[in-house]
Amino acid sequence: NDILLHVKNLHVAFDTYAGEVKAVRGVDYELKKGETLAIVGESGCGKSVSAQTIMQLIPMPPGKIKEGEIIFEGKNLLDYSDKEMEKIRGKDISMIFQDPMTSLNPTMKVGKQIMEVLIKHQNMTKSEAHDRAVEMLKLVGLPNPEKRAKQFPHEYSGGMRQRAMIAIALACNPKLLIADEPTTALDVTIQAQIMDLMQELQDKLNTAIILITHDLGVVADSAKKIAVMYAGIIIEYGETNDIFYNAQHPYTWGLLQSVPRLDVETEVRLVPIDGTPPDLIAPPKGCPFAARCDYAMPVCKESMPEVSDVSDNHYVRCWLKHDMAPEVVNPVTGRR
Ligand code: SF4
Ligand code: MG
Repeated sequence: NDILLHVKNLHVAFDTYAGEVKAVRGVDYELKKGETLAIVGESGCGKSVSAQTIMQLIPMPPGKIKEGEIIFEGKNLLDYSDKEMEKIRGKDISMIFQDPMTSLNPTMKVGKQIMEVLIKHQNMTKSEAHDRAVEMLKLVGLPNPEKRAKQFPHEYSGGMRQRAMIAIALACNPKLLIADEPTTALDVTIQAQIMDLMQELQDKLNTAIILITHDLGVVADSAKKIAVMYAGIIIEYGETNDIFYNAQHPYTWGLLQSVPRLDVETEVRLVPIDGTPPDLIAPPKGCPFAARCDYAMPVCKESMPEVSDVSDNHYVRCWLKHDMAPEVVNPVTGRR
């Protein structure tokens, strides 16, 4: 059994003065050892919340897990105490964020920050941890790692800080790395370098990765599978090729249109999808995308579309897949 993580029917909500925000509304996915799953969607779609729940990083209250299971190596993490989770965080499961400054300690030398993780989780002596810290900085591509280990985060550039955060996250060789918009704050060239680095390290260390992003363009080369989330639901799921070349959901079509084409020399014009996502305090009873969808039919506002299988590992939630639906031309494939 090479399934590392199985998220089952996860529902997460937050209490607010205006009412309960249903941020994640029944999310399912599996991740194999060493594999990358990208979770893609606009901000507020529940992609970060669903991943933070794995690490139990959701403040509770106001957050609450209403339903579901998070099976990691055969055990439900939602049954774990805070103390048991403490042992897993940073060791078996690590996380990196968009802004390294939120997880790097500005008052501590970078080498020391890596050493702390190693001393806590791997029982290393100081000198073992020091050697390993320098080795990690070298592994993430920092020139002069001995010297860099003795510097503070503010002495690093943005890209270098992101590398340092990756070094900390991977120091204990975790089985799962959750990367939440890891390159969003960086310029395009550095973005590509960081993505390459993550892939290179994944190959070396066989780490599974959940890559969370609003940008489909980032995941094309790195993810094996893609889950597209909208309003707390996975509306399309498939292998990367299924999503890029055979997308079936109108929202995914919109996301694909907004991916800048690297093969086109002219200035890239992003096409945003018109409208805003629904209010998750009172989510619509039908398809959550109906208010923005060019293809919406009367049924779409009435009932939530069921899951339709496109192929073995590819499914979509859209009434267009129903037998009775009118035929439309799929703008991605050009077919009906
Ligand atoms: Fe559009 Fe209807 Fe499909 Fe929703 S179910 S995406 S509204 S066609
Ligand atoms: Mg987020």
